[in-house]
Amino acid sequence: MTFENLNLIEPILKALKTEGYTTPTPIQAKSIPLILQKRDLLGCAQTGTGKTAAFSIPILQLLHEKQGSDKGQRKIKALILTPTRELALQIADSIEAYGKHTGLKHTVIFGGVPQKKQTDALRAGVDILVATPGRLLDLMAQKYVHLQHLELFVLDEADRMLDMGFVNDVKKVLKVLPEKKQSLFFSATMAPEIMKLADTILVDPAKVEV
Ligand code: AMP
Repeated sequence: MTFENLNLIEPILKALKTEGYTTPTPIQAKSIPLILQKRDLLGCAQTGTGKTAAFSIPILQLLHEKQGSDKGQRKIKALILTPTRELALQIADSIEAYGKHTGLKHTVIFGGVPQKKQTDALRAGVDILVATPGRLLDLMAQKYVHLQHLELFVLDEADRMLDMGFVNDVKKVLKVLPEKKQSLFFSATMAPEIMKLADTILVDPAKVEV
């Protein structure tokens, strides 16, 4: 199995080559085709399995294919919610690496730092937003973040999100997202309360376990 077998577009294949990736990891081989088919996905995977690329690569491809059909100001079309600043930065770095030939723009927002740089980036316009819940709600309340054009939503590390007490923040975010969207849900464990949250987000999800 190679990345070519996954029907990826040239700008992404080129970037993966630069990264030195040749073979998709199991979660990537299973998830990428399902996400490209626009399925909702319930993924059971730990950090270190290549989970970030498993959702970032198909999101970049889906958005790249649609680019141009909406001219003018960039609107946030994908939101990736993750519990910590460290994870948010890692995801943003991955999107930067895999997406560098796609022309898509992204930024990352998290708490504990001044908001000016983050709001400047948002004002300039992005296609993909990586965020931690608290800062996201904060910048939504200040009208720097508008999510009415969202097409893709990722909840990353759902179990840690719950452990860290972010469940109400996540629910507040979910409330403002458009009903019609593709949702991807990742967790290392699938305890009953995680499944309950997944149930409120996903529609007929494909299930992937590694
Ligand atoms: P993650 O599980 O997303 O945190 O990824 C773990 C590490 O594996 C990261 O450093 C990635 O850059 C790397 N990685 C992800 N997918 C691949 C791949 N297909 N081939 C080689 N390295 C990879």
